[in-house]
Amino acid sequence: MSRVCIVGAGFSGAVIGRELAQKGRKILVVDERRHVAGNCHTERDDATGIMVHRYGPHIFHTDDEEVWRYISQFGEMMPYVNRVKATVKGRVYSLPINLHTINQFFEASFSPDEAREFVRSQSRVDIYDPQTFEQQGLKFVGEALYYAFFDGYTRKQWGVEPKKLPASILKRLPVRFNYNDNYFSHRFQGIPRKGYSAVVEEILDHDNIELKLNCRFEDLSEAFQHIFYSGPLDRYFNFDLGRLQYRTLQFEEIRQKGDIQGTAVMNYPDQEIPYTRISEHKYFSPWETDKFSHSVAYREYSSSCGPDDIPYYPIRLVGDKNKFEEYKERTKDISGITFVGRLGTYQYLDMDATIRAALDTAQQFLESVDE
Ligand code: FAD
Ligand code: UDP
Repeated sequence: MSRVCIVGAGFSGAVIGRELAQKGRKILVVDERRHVAGNCHTERDDATGIMVHRYGPHIFHTDDEEVWRYISQFGEMMPYVNRVKATVKGRVYSLPINLHTINQFFEASFSPDEAREFVRSQSRVDIYDPQTFEQQGLKFVGEALYYAFFDGYTRKQWGVEPKKLPASILKRLPVRFNYNDNYFSHRFQGIPRKGYSAVVEEILDHDNIELKLNCRFEDLSEAFQHIFYSGPLDRYFNFDLGRLQYRTLQFEEIRQKGDIQGTAVMNYPDQEIPYTRISEHKYFSPWETDKFSHSVAYREYSSSCGPDDIPYYPIRLVGDKNKFEEYKERTKDISGITFVGRLGTYQYLDMDATIRAALDTAQQFLESVDE
């Protein structure tokens, strides 16, 4: 029987490959990069030995116990709580917006009930069913907090006015009326001790899997039983309906002795500051942070994604999904290929949702070929 081809050695491709390999399929996984793990790739910095998240900081967080158990089989998950800070107009605040942020920002000492009442008095009660990011923000926290923490950051991150973005982007963030400053509310949270690339290498380590790095799918000539494609959907069709819109990121390195900012992530919501955040990578490994006498951090700049850039965030504007829908229609005319993952389905997917979708896709495929 011919092999199954998996395009992309990120979490989508690796998990599907592994599941199929365990059921006796022969698999070829290709990735055009020189490493596995896609955008979750981690590697030790040559000069300092610090584990660096090459394509931006990645924290694993989920309520899906099966997914948590799945990833934990392939590498030790170390406890990690994401405590983000924000510098606004020269002052440092706690994120996500919590009782500490509210008290710092309004120079108050509200109790939880007082803060809830105060924020409610600020919020735009005339907005009933928020559709856009801006409406969601104004309804959620009111103008003062919205303009301080969300408006500028979002304009820089997405390059469009917040009234053109869907409310769902902001619904990812909580507002809390206690001092809990954990950025996520999920039951399971962590970072792999040896980094994400080591986890993905373990997932791909199976006798039935051949891995080819530095290899583009377009350059293969073998005939496959089936293809799972986790590359960009529009690229598969040679962009013939035009390009799907993405944001890309540029990282500007900062190196120095000692500490740079003293925490993993500092957001910069002010619009006058060109970057969105700075991440200091030794703080993503709290079990070894103190070992390093030097530090490395990255300023993160977001911009519109050109043909030679890495696509990071799919831009789905309110009422503007047409081109994606057209490409999706085209996929129905072809057989023998399944489009998966963040780029193949043009969705913002966290790692846990990526793994869940990959497990389900593999299961469905195995059931369909067994029938
Ligand atoms: P990818 O990781 O993009 O992998 C696709 C792979 O396919 C790539 O390696 C690419 O080189 C390869 N490829 C594409 N086309 C071809 C081709 N034609 N031939 C050969 N190879 C090809 N998630 C979280 O859960 N927590 C976080 O904290 C978090 N932070 C993030 C921060 C940033 C800045 C970004 C952008 C994402 C973040 N994510 C986070 C999301 C996470 O990166 C994704 O969930 C995950 O990478 C999706 O995996 P994937 O395999 O679908 O895609
Ligand atoms: N956001 C913001 N200010 C912040 C952090 C986030 O306005 O300090 C907005 C921004 O639009 C972002 C969204 O909230 O895209 C979701 O935030 P999250 O931290 O989940 O961003 P991501 O992980 O997508 O980069």
